Amino acid sequence: MPKDIRYLKGVGEKRAELFRKKGIKTVEDLLYYFPRSHEDRSETKEIADCVESETVCLSVTVFSPVRETRVRKNLLISSMVVSDQTGALNVVWYNNRYVKGQFMTGDEYILYGKITRNRGKLEMLNPVYEKKGKERFTGKIVPLYPLTEGLTQKILQSSMELAIKEAGRLEEYIPAEIRNKYHIAELNYAMKNIHFPEDFESYNIARERFVFEELLILQLALSGHKDENTSRESVKFEDILCVRDFVKTLPFPLTNAQKKVLNEILNDCKSGKMMNRLVQGDVGSGKTAVAAAAIYTAVKNGHQAAMMAPTEILALQHAQTLGEFFKDTGINVVMLTGSMRAKEKRLAYDMIATGAADVVVGTHAIIQDEVTFFELGLVVADEQHRFGVEQRARLAAKGNNPHMLIMSATPIPRTLALILYGDLDISVIDELPPGRKTVKTYAVGEKMRKRVFAFLEKNVNEGMQAYVVCPLIAETEKSDLQNAEALAEKLQAIFPNFRVGLMHGRMKAKLKDEVMNEFVNGSIQILVSTTVIEVGVNVPNANIMIIENAERFGLSQLHQLRGRVGRGKEQAFCILLAHGNNEITKKRMETMCISNDGFYISEQDLQIRGPGDFFGTRQHGLPEMKIANLFEDRDILALSQLAAKDIMEEDASLESDKYIRLRKRCEKITSEDIVMN
Ligand code: ADP
Ligand code: MG
Repeated sequence: MPKDIRYLKGVGEKRAELFRKKGIKTVEDLLYYFPRSHEDRSETKEIADCVESETVCLSVTVFSPVRETRVRKNLLISSMVVSDQTGALNVVWYNNRYVKGQFMTGDEYILYGKITRNRGKLEMLNPVYEKKGKERFTGKIVPLYPLTEGLTQKILQSSMELAIKEAGRLEEYIPAEIRNKYHIAELNYAMKNIHFPEDFESYNIARERFVFEELLILQLALSGHKDENTSRESVKFEDILCVRDFVKTLPFPLTNAQKKVLNEILNDCKSGKMMNRLVQGDVGSGKTAVAAAAIYTAVKNGHQAAMMAPTEILALQHAQTLGEFFKDTGINVVMLTGSMRAKEKRLAYDMIATGAADVVVGTHAIIQDEVTFFELGLVVADEQHRFGVEQRARLAAKGNNPHMLIMSATPIPRTLALILYGDLDISVIDELPPGRKTVKTYAVGEKMRKRVFAFLEKNVNEGMQAYVVCPLIAETEKSDLQNAEALAEKLQAIFPNFRVGLMHGRMKAKLKDEVMNEFVNGSIQILVSTTVIEVGVNVPNANIMIIENAERFGLSQLHQLRGRVGRGKEQAFCILLAHGNNEITKKRMETMCISNDGFYISEQDLQIRGPGDFFGTRQHGLPEMKIANLFEDRDILALSQLAAKDIMEEDASLESDKYIRLRKRCEKITSEDIVMN
């Protein structure tokens, strides 16, 4: 049994609750709470060698104990004088009620703190102190943990030290032969050195081990979720050249990239083997036209096709687009969504079952049990990161292994693609139709808000529409929700002549659709929204997007959002209102301003943000990385992929004793974590 964290010494019920908030329930969970960095306190200096602004370790004797001076009501200064053979030094704490009475003249202490200058004299500020001979977190390399409310560095450090002691010998997850083959350190060595390393080399060895472990488990967990039907037999499209008749009817010539991808798709469909293909293409690259061509070919070869969208609005738009594309082809498009009335649904079921419907466009409603197809040959899933593996499998089961075409507008770096889509063939539409104007993007601070609103007003007065996007983050959902609501109210007050609409994820689908429709038909001019507008709706008359707290979004997500504008003839603008001026934010916003290339942007995002980053991985549907950085650790990623392959070849279900512990870890990564696959 894993030991509950509250039985660890010094951790009572109250502290255990704080740990639990961080997802730490057992001693083992705690051990896997890795430091964010280390502080080198291993070298002790002498007072005479201290220089301003250095952070140092000193071995000292207390010369005169702490004296308190209350300078103002809310400023208490405690100071004492310490000495070593080379000199004396003043030590100062601000607003620390605990240090008085802690020190006696003649006591020997190790101090660790920053040297500052005050009125010309050096002093040490707010040091960590430990009695000489009883050092725990001085005189060595000390871990610094990501903090959380109520848990200080000191608590985390000492709990961790105890946890390592109490856990005793940990049982290894990765069999020795794998570790030897890939030069990976053993668990106990790694655990000690990730927290309390002898030196920085040992730390690096330890870190590599856990990066490898994390990525290996991820790969193994993902392979457990992968479709096994890649090599299954499927329907064969005998005549794929008929697609030319369709392409001729399009109001535009296909781009070379579209042609290339369409060829890849149709060759799969002709092969007799089931297609499992992901088409990646930046927003506006024309994925729908490619999908329509594939659907056309399926129908002309005597099959039905289904197209799935993540929302009703999107399904409706797809149905309209396909209806338009197919208007002179005799192809019959039917819609099926959850909000349709029972009678309409029954009619749709009938048409689908008898084959009167050639193409079904809809939401999840398509995979309900009531739906039976006459002869399903092709399934297109749009914006697939909203679909789970199970849903894909259920659709596949509705036909005789129909071909699967998955479309994604989230360009992802190669490293991620390899992890996520090991079982899929990937096509990339890497070219936009000619004549597209890029969206002009600006990153501005709060003080520009007035000008931004003036710009907004001018454009709306000229007949354009605008999106204003607010972030919504799970933990603080409530207050963020109020943000969107409050902002909508505020904008309505500022612009009494315009209609301001509001849309967020907590609204009922029907209401969302109503608001969206009002935006589409122009009766709402400014739409305040959370990221629910991220996927796919086309409103060519909207040419401005303002994004509030842009620093809170992942770059790929910003890019995705930005893709909602720039769909019409007018020049489009995206204004990022970013708060905070740290280097990372600056770099990220700059990336958005200089690039319109989704692949470049997502690579940059992975690179600029570190490991454990919420957005970088989460927005791609991967579980949050504890330690691995998918960009910087790509070498270890490659190794872990080889190792995962070794293991899968030997024992794909991880049943043998050797792998049972790895399997348990994989099972912890639930299918919910992996939304994308
Ligand atoms: P996305 O890849 O984002 O789904 P769409 O398929 O919605 O892109 O296409 C965006 C717009 O570009 C649509 O209005 C579509 O008709 C148009 N389009 C698609 N292909 C071409 C092309 N080859 N030339 C010109 N316009 C195109
Ligand atoms: Mg699309």
